[in-house]
Amino acid sequence: MSVLAELLGAINGGRVDLVDLTAPLTDKTPVLALPEPFKNTLPFQLELISRYDADGPAWYWNNIHTGEHTGTHLDAPIHWVTGRDGLDVSQVPLSSLIAPAVVLDATARVRENPDFLLERNDIQEWQRVNGPLPDGGWLLYRTGWDERSDNSADFLNSGHTPGISAECARWLAEETAIVGLGVETVGTDAGQAPNLDPAFPCHHRLLGAGKLGLTQLRNLDRLPATGIALAVLPLPIVGGSGSPARVVALIDAEG
Ligand code: MN
Repeated sequence: MSVLAELLGAINGGRVDLVDLTAPLTDKTPVLALPEPFKNTLPFQLELISRYDADGPAWYWNNIHTGEHTGTHLDAPIHWVTGRDGLDVSQVPLSSLIAPAVVLDATARVRENPDFLLERNDIQEWQRVNGPLPDGGWLLYRTGWDERSDNSADFLNSGHTPGISAECARWLAEETAIVGLGVETVGTDAGQAPNLDPAFPCHHRLLGAGKLGLTQLRNLDRLPATGIALAVLPLPIVGGSGSPARVVALIDAEG
């Protein structure tokens, strides 16, 4: 049997589970709020074209209004000034988007401190237990923050949200073979990242190294630490700095 037929049989037979890591898109989906004088992104919005009415008697459809960086979305290298000569979202190769992934869980420490910053030592400790980070794959950073994702105020938490230290971001970007970092928060950087050096170190280092960011993930608690096939499917917006994405994990079913 071909590998693909085997995989499809396993999905169909319930031996491989599909886990949706995507936040639903609504006008309540939390979006980043930058302070003055910076411009902000639009919230997601549906604009009715017609719904079985005089404007379209047999059909229902909408225009959508959204930023590229709304809800569960991919940051392409070109999103940051350090990656300005890098790939736009339409150019990111599928081999980076369909790739292995691992989950590092810092939920307990984030519960004690919402400004928690993951350090290189934490990842190296994780590696001693779980093995190396996946070559060409994703590190998914679980913080428990997705529990807040239905309430914008709780989710943004007045700028107190967990992230990654500046040194850890540099190390991930320059000294590991991961292709990207996925998080549960509104962006890959911590809420207090404007005060780090460099500011927004995940954006600065990872996108500057041609790597990718992935945000507002859910359901990481349903994944094992290792043994995950991740599918990240952004829209191929030509020249785009990012895109809302559907993100699905394939895992071996339990038992
Ligand atoms: Mn973004």
